[in-house]
Amino acid sequence: MRHNSSAFLKMTFAGVLAVSLATAVASPALAKPAAPAAQEAPKGPPKLIVAIAVDQYSADLFAQYRARYTGGLARLLKGAVFPSGFQSHAATETCPGHSTLLTGAHPARTGIIANTWVDFTAPRANKYVYCAEDEKAGGDKMVVSAAHLKVPTLGEWMKKQWSDSRNVAVSVKDRAAVMMSGHDPDGAYWLDGQAFTSYTGKPLPVAIASANERLKALFAKGAGAMAVPAWCAPRDRAVQAGALTVGTGRFTLGEADKTRKLADQFRASPRADAVTLEIAAGLVKELKLGKGGAPDVLSVSLSANDYIGHGYGTEGLEMCIQQFELDRKLGTFFAALDASGVDYAVMLTADHGGIDLPERLREQGLPEAQRAEVDLSGTTLGKVIAGELGLANAKPVLSDGLGGDYWISPDLTAEQRAQVQAKLVEKLKAHPQVEAVFTRDQIAATPYPLGHPQDWSEIQKARASYDPQRSGDIYAPLRRAVVSVPTPKAGSITVTTHGSIWDYDRRVPMLFWRKGVTGMEQPQPVETVDIAPTLAALIGLKVPEGTFDGRCLDIDGGPADSCGK
Ligand SMILES: [Zn+2]
Repeated sequence: MRHNSSAFLKMTFAGVLAVSLATAVASPALAKPAAPAAQEAPKGPPKLIVAIAVDQYSADLFAQYRARYTGGLARLLKGAVFPSGFQSHAATETCPGHSTLLTGAHPARTGIIANTWVDFTAPRANKYVYCAEDEKAGGDKMVVSAAHLKVPTLGEWMKKQWSDSRNVAVSVKDRAAVMMSGHDPDGAYWLDGQAFTSYTGKPLPVAIASANERLKALFAKGAGAMAVPAWCAPRDRAVQAGALTVGTGRFTLGEADKTRKLADQFRASPRADAVTLEIAAGLVKELKLGKGGAPDVLSVSLSANDYIGHGYGTEGLEMCIQQFELDRKLGTFFAALDASGVDYAVMLTADHGGIDLPERLREQGLPEAQRAEVDLSGTTLGKVIAGELGLANAKPVLSDGLGGDYWISPDLTAEQRAQVQAKLVEKLKAHPQVEAVFTRDQIAATPYPLGHPQDWSEIQKARASYDPQRSGDIYAPLRRAVVSVPTPKAGSITVTTHGSIWDYDRRVPMLFWRKGVTGMEQPQPVETVDIAPTLAALIGLKVPEGTFDGRCLDIDGGPADSCGK
């Protein structure tokens, strides 16, 4: 029988925080002997923050599958549930999204405006720069680094306040692990080809080395089709997208699949999340996370959801199996954390949302869905403009893909640049797939956006993505349901993408859970920049005024306030 009369059982996020602050004036209730650990809510701030990002986990996927969850996600549904979290900014890509999660800042302040941007001063022939690299150190070679991240992460602030606090991250994607842990973490691990690795010269823990051994065996042996839950059967239907057929995949792994390389097959399968979570549980044990004198933070970014979304779309059998496996594997992970005896708090969210492939969207009630036209690339537009203006420079404009940011070459006279910009604006405005065209001056003159993110105007979203040193000269978001992936050719592994200004890419769930929490659901819009201040309050972390763009969310379902107000 549980101690139902115990004050501890009613203890909540705010309650435990209040208790920790009140220990100096310990009340008689607190002096009571503690019941066995498994029987009651924990006292004091949690010892370990487990920050989980499920890549491309849109609010739409969450709404579609939440009733099916019985594992780890079902546990989180008993905590504080915010189904309408917003990655509020315009450029809803992986790196910017991850950069907001534990910094509490929009990409305009994290400096991570995209996965890739153009820097004409970069020391390399190709002027494209990756968000999680240091091109000054690497030149033409890619050296993974947090050099581009302009603000500290939660883990960095924690280490400032408590010198023995640890900050560790793991993901299949380097940029996810880098952006969640930030500068100089105690450990950041990601998959490089067929093995997990870390920053150059950093030793690999046993949890990583043993996972790499298991991966080696898996890649050598391959694996059969994954089990299909009965409730996924209605999704099992083939759809043609150019040269690719999707919708019926069951994630066999091996040489039989001629369309994808082994590493790509692995990444775009629930197996990638399973290994990431095994490593995460192994790191907790090996590094004794949550067992030191100060709170630790472990960031886990699960990339399979995103690779599966890109590779197969969001409404086929593949995503259904993924949702089933994600829930199941998170359940196994939380059971391992329970067994460790560590008092942990979980936050789970996403770096951005997503949308299905246009071919299936058109079959399923969205006739306007289409693929972006390749003439929207900066190189193509630039070539046409160079011809019209008689410029010697054949590449006056660059972009990273179709739509979004466009950069104008500095190797032109001021007059030529103005002419190129005018032509570019004119052509983009005339394009039927372009929603709006904003110049850098227009975006820079827009006040930093505040208020409910679902009410933001298009230029306000662009402002939250705008960094004067890195952003393009023109920002041209595409229309709703225009997917920025050309028709897949043979050998292609991508059928759809995200990155748009639309809410299907901006809206993500935000879930908080800790043992003994008083559950709640708050459907009003909140922002992913609210996560860092919320977690900071939970552990009693003090940061300077103005550090966060977001606000602390009271994640206590009862009258207590986890923000300590
Ligand atoms: Zn993605």
